[in-house]
Amino acid sequence: MRQRIHNALSAILAGVVINFCGASFAQDDAKKPNIVLLFLDDLGYADVGFNAELFGVETDVVTPNIDALARAGTIFKQAYVAHPFCGPSRMALLSGRMPHTYGGQKNLPDVSKNLEDYNSKGIPENEMLMSTVLKKAGYATACIGKWHVGSSKPFHPNNRGFDEFYGFVGGGHQYYPYISDKVEPKINDYQYFLERNGEAFKSPEGAYLTDMLSDEGADYIAKKSAKAKPFFLYMAYNAPHSPLHGKTEDLQHLYPDHKPANPGSGINFTDYKKRQNYVAMMYAVDRGVKQLVDTLKDPNGDGNADDSIMEETLIVFMSDNGGKILQAASNAPLQDDKGSAHEGGIRVPMFMHWPEKVPAGDVFDHPVLALDFYPTFAGLAGAKIPKNKKLDGKDIWSDFLAGKNSHPDEPIFWLRHHGSGNEVAIRVGNLKAYRKNLSSWKIYDVTTDFSESDDVSKEHVELLNSMVAEGLQWSQTHQEPKWHDTKAALDTWTKNTMPHYEKTFRVK
Ligand code: CA
Repeated sequence: MRQRIHNALSAILAGVVINFCGASFAQDDAKKPNIVLLFLDDLGYADVGFNAELFGVETDVVTPNIDALARAGTIFKQAYVAHPFCGPSRMALLSGRMPHTYGGQKNLPDVSKNLEDYNSKGIPENEMLMSTVLKKAGYATACIGKWHVGSSKPFHPNNRGFDEFYGFVGGGHQYYPYISDKVEPKINDYQYFLERNGEAFKSPEGAYLTDMLSDEGADYIAKKSAKAKPFFLYMAYNAPHSPLHGKTEDLQHLYPDHKPANPGSGINFTDYKKRQNYVAMMYAVDRGVKQLVDTLKDPNGDGNADDSIMEETLIVFMSDNGGKILQAASNAPLQDDKGSAHEGGIRVPMFMHWPEKVPAGDVFDHPVLALDFYPTFAGLAGAKIPKNKKLDGKDIWSDFLAGKNSHPDEPIFWLRHHGSGNEVAIRVGNLKAYRKNLSSWKIYDVTTDFSESDDVSKEHVELLNSMVAEGLQWSQTHQEPKWHDTKAALDTWTKNTMPHYEKTFRVK
């Protein structure tokens, strides 16, 4: 399933033969890699050049730096997040567990809505996050950008394994924070002041959020580059999540014939203007990725690469869930979008880059899960995972290098609660069973039928029975949601006596 495997493998074999002897990567003589996790928000499947090209989709996005990095590494054609919404997806990434197992399957509410009981919640404290595991293994750790997995003190990034935090704890933010800083009273947490390590600060006039995050990330890399400690940098860009505010200069550059949108307004745009803003937002992320890469290649910025740390840095790129079509994203060729258990909600663009370690110019065509990152990063870092820590993903590293599937037989589950029912998907091998509420089950081969349009359930009656039975068993591991994103969502949940697993996980 790996393309161009032989050249790539010989390069790898020269460097990390120890992998094939069953030993952990983190040997005494192997420096622990820095890990830079570029985690975007609501990125459309076709909204980065490298992925559009992979699937033969025409696109107007301009992401040359991201594309160059992807092509110099390995692109993952079947990368999945654990949930089609931001909060639960990030909880799964950071905790290594399906959030349903600890009641984290809903987004946390907007802090400004004063749902006091919920505002004091987050990923349970007994779930050790990947940041803590890496920190205990000697890593310097930073989270820059969006958090959204708990804002009160015990759940704040600085108390969850991150030495440094710069950004915002809620589900999103305005892109011109100088303007939102001045709004009083604040009607949503997108207008809150940005913060550094719990201290709110006023943003400079004209500063554009994506650039602020990139500047901070580059500073962090430059500062940490000369240190003996490796670092874990979680770059959680909120772009291209709404509000659709491209940077004025980027809009002028990309669309010189059109009057740019008014930064800060974000309303009454036609879809065309929305798309222009979306493309401009990705253009800004692309500039940021170049800035981070330039800093890795020349941390002291003297024009000489003798201090490069690129060779000892693993870069991973992914989105937290699918793009939102109403917000101008394109998930082509996948069906549906953010919030769906169809591929458009859960299958995301992904690549890894690490010179001489990650094969260059390759495509990896087996399922890889955001849930796999925790054990995989821990493995590369030689980190100890506590014995009682449960993980739902796998350390994929040796399978990845060998071009093998880490999830060949076991079911992979997705479940999103709607108001009065569930949307569920169960993938085994190449086949994915799908059901929304009480519609009939469908089965698709998602390795060839990307748009899930050819139902083959009639050919797999026995398999469907066993998949659904496993789904019911899996649902027994869930807890009631510990929070809902709105009071209305809680009321609907209660009124409909959710979660209705016995109805959901039944073939007819
Ligand atoms: Ca998102």
